[in-house]
Amino acid sequence: IKSAMLILLIAIIALPLKNKAQQVNDPAIDAKVNALVKQMTLEEKVGQMAQVSIESLGKIRNGNFVFDQDTFKKAVIQYKIGSILNTPGLQNAQQWNNIIQEIQNAAKQTRLKIPVLYGLDDNHGVNYVAGATLFPQEIGQAATWNPELIYNAGVITAYESRAASVPWTYSPVLDLGTNPQWPRIWEDYGEDPYLSSRMGVAFVHGVQDPLGSKDKLVVSLKHYMGYSDPKSGHDRTDAWIPENYLREYHLPAFRACVDANARTVMVNSALINGIPTHINKHVLTDILKDELGFTGFTVSDWQDIENVYRRDHITKDIKGAIMLAINAGIDMSMIPYNYKEFCTDLIALVKEGKVSMSRINDAVTRILRVKEELKLFETPMTYLKDYPKFGSAEFEKASYNTAAESITLLKNSNNVLPLPKTARVLVTGPNANSMRTLNGGWTYTWQGERTDEYAQKYNTILEAVQNKFGPTNVLYERGVSYNTAGKYYEDSIVDMDAAVKAAANVDYILLCIGENNYTETPGNLNDLTLSHNQLLLAKAMIKTGKPVIFILNEGRPRIFNEVESAAAAVIDVYLPSNFGGDALADILTGDVNPSGKLPITYSRFTNALATYIHKPSEGDGNPQGGDFYPQYQFGFGLSYTSFEYSNLSVNKNVFSPGDTATIHVTVKNSGNRDGKEVVELFASDLVASLTPDVKRLRGFEKIDLKAGESKTVTFRLPMKDLAYVNSNNKTELEAGDFKLQVANLNASFSVNKTVIY
Ligand code: BGC
Repeated sequence: IKSAMLILLIAIIALPLKNKAQQVNDPAIDAKVNALVKQMTLEEKVGQMAQVSIESLGKIRNGNFVFDQDTFKKAVIQYKIGSILNTPGLQNAQQWNNIIQEIQNAAKQTRLKIPVLYGLDDNHGVNYVAGATLFPQEIGQAATWNPELIYNAGVITAYESRAASVPWTYSPVLDLGTNPQWPRIWEDYGEDPYLSSRMGVAFVHGVQDPLGSKDKLVVSLKHYMGYSDPKSGHDRTDAWIPENYLREYHLPAFRACVDANARTVMVNSALINGIPTHINKHVLTDILKDELGFTGFTVSDWQDIENVYRRDHITKDIKGAIMLAINAGIDMSMIPYNYKEFCTDLIALVKEGKVSMSRINDAVTRILRVKEELKLFETPMTYLKDYPKFGSAEFEKASYNTAAESITLLKNSNNVLPLPKTARVLVTGPNANSMRTLNGGWTYTWQGERTDEYAQKYNTILEAVQNKFGPTNVLYERGVSYNTAGKYYEDSIVDMDAAVKAAANVDYILLCIGENNYTETPGNLNDLTLSHNQLLLAKAMIKTGKPVIFILNEGRPRIFNEVESAAAAVIDVYLPSNFGGDALADILTGDVNPSGKLPITYSRFTNALATYIHKPSEGDGNPQGGDFYPQYQFGFGLSYTSFEYSNLSVNKNVFSPGDTATIHVTVKNSGNRDGKEVVELFASDLVASLTPDVKRLRGFEKIDLKAGESKTVTFRLPMKDLAYVNSNNKTELEAGDFKLQVANLNASFSVNKTVIY
C-alpha cells in the first residue's frame, strides 16, 4: 500500500510538470552566475537591473559621440548600471566600436568588472549603424512567406550588429497585426499567429544560434503581449482581451520563440483589461516565466515603470510603481534617464521588505546569465575589422531578394502586367521619389526623418524605373507631395495639372501612393482611408483613360475602395527598404515573377476591419459593407503564371487526439513562366463549444515551380494543433468534424475524442 501511495504521490507531483516547458540552462554558466551573485552587494545588484539611454550621457560633436565624462562615470562606475541603449544619432560601425569600448573600459573599473550589455532596435537590419544592410520591414518580410529569407536576415543582422560591438537587439516584433489602425502594424509579421510564429522562430534562430558565438546576439521578443490591439487603434492605449483570447492568438508566437530559446523579452507598454502589463504578475511571471519556462530576462519598455505612476495613475509615486513592476516580474528597467531615482527607490524597497531579496537575486541571475551566455565577460568587445562582410554586396543581395519576394501583386486586370520594356511610363505620386517612404520608421533615426539624406546611394521607385525603361521613356510629376516639415505625414497637391498633361504622352501611369514614415504615437490616425489628396490624384489619373498601376507603399492597409475598381493593376510593396525600388522595377517588367502574399487582411471599408480569423457572422461576404468583405484576403497574391491544385488528400478519416495527419496536395504551374507559389493549408473546426473561427492557417510552404512543372506538397498536422483555448483558459481538442482547405480544394476528417491538455 505504501509503495502504491508513493507512486500515486509522484504521479500527482509529476502531473502538472508534464506539460510545462522549460528553457535549458548550461549548468556551468549557472554555477558561475550563482557564485557571482553571492558576492554582490545590493547596490551592485540593483545597478544591473538599470538601463539608461545613451543620449543622457553625452553628445555628438563634429560627427563623433563624446561622453560627458562626469555623467558617464557616475552612471557606469558609481551606480554600476548594467545596460545602455539607444542611439546618440547615426554613427558608423567604427564609431560604435569606440563608444562601446569606452563603456566596457569604464565597466572594468568597477569592483566586479561586469560588462555592460548594450541594446539597439535592429528592426529591419542594424538600422542605427551607417552602412549596415537594411531589410524590408517585418510586414514585408512576412509577405515573403519564406522563413529561410527571414533566417538569413537574422544571420546578417547579428553579424553586422556585432561588427558594431552591439550584442543585443530589440527584435523580433511578435505583436499580432490584428488592428490595421494601429501605427506599428508594419513592425510585425501580420495578423496570423501561425505565420508570426514561423517567421519569429526563423529570425530567432538566425540571430542567436549558436549562442555565444562572436557573430551572434540575443533577441528581445516584443512587446509581450496584447499590445497590438488597442480599442482606439492608437498606440499605447488600452486593449480588452480575455485571457483565453490572449492565449489563443497573442501568446503562440511568443511561446514558439521562447521554445526556440529567445533570451530576452520586452514588455507591452500599454494596458490589457485595465492593467498595465508592466505590473501584471500573471502575464509576466505565471505565464511567461513559470508556464513557458523562460529563463532569460524581461526588460521594460521605454519609461514604462514610470508610466504606471504618471500615465496610468495606479500609484501615487514612482516608488510604488517600481515596487509593483519588480514584484510582477520585470527584471531590467529601461528607465531610461533618471536611474538614480530607480536605484535609490529599489534599494529602499528591499530594505523596507517590500521587494524581496530573492526577487532581486532572481532578476540579477537572469541578467547575468544572458551576459555569460553571450560570453561578454571574456569578450566584451567585437570589432568591425573582424567582420569583413559588413555592408557587402552579398548582404545587399539578400535584402533585394527579400524585397523581391515580399512585393505582392493584388490586381492585374487583363494581364496588363508585366509591361513591355519599351513602354513609356509616367511615374507620379508622393511615394514615387522617396527613400524615406520605402524604408519607413526605425531607419537611421527613430522615425526615419533623415532617411533620404542617408540613403542616397539607393534607388527610389522613380530612379529604378528610369534605369529599367530608360530615362527618356519615363516622365515624372509628383502630383501630391508630403509636407517636408511639421506634420510630415500630411500631404498637399502640387502640380496635379502637370501630371494630367504628362499622362497624355505615356502608355501607362505608375501611381505611387501610400504613407510617409512614422512610428508609435506620431503615427496615430483618425481615418484609415487613403488621404484625400492622394484619392484626388488617383481619380485625375484614372480620368486620363490611361491604364493606372497603383503602387501601394505604406505601413498599414490604407483604404482606397473608392478608386480600386478603376485600377488596371495594384501592387503592394509595403516598406521594402533600400532595394524596394529595384525589386519593384524588376517585377513591373517581369524580370521577377511576383510571389508575395498578404500577411494581413486588406480591408475595404473603414468600419469593417475584421481579420480573416473571425467568428462566423450574418454580415460575412455582404457587399453592402459586410462584417467580412475585405478588399483583399489574407494570404492573397497573384503571379504572372497560374497554378492548378489537385488531389488534396488526408491519410485517415478518423483521428485520435495523439495522431498526426499526413496531408498531400499537388500543385502544377500551368502557365508559361517559372514561378514561386505559397501553398497555404487552412483548417476549420466545424462545431465546437466555443464558436470556432471561420478558418485558421495551420501550415504553408513556399515552392518553386518551373513552367509546366508539378510538385506534391506534404503537410504533417498534429491533431493538437487544432485545439483551441476554452473559456477556462485550457487548451482543448474537441471531438468532431474538421475541414481542410488548400486553395480551391477541401477535405474533411474527424477527431474521435475530446482532450483537455
Ligand atoms: C518602443 C520599443 C523600443 C524602445 C527602445 C520604445 O518606445 O516601444 O519598441 O524597443 O522604445 O527604443
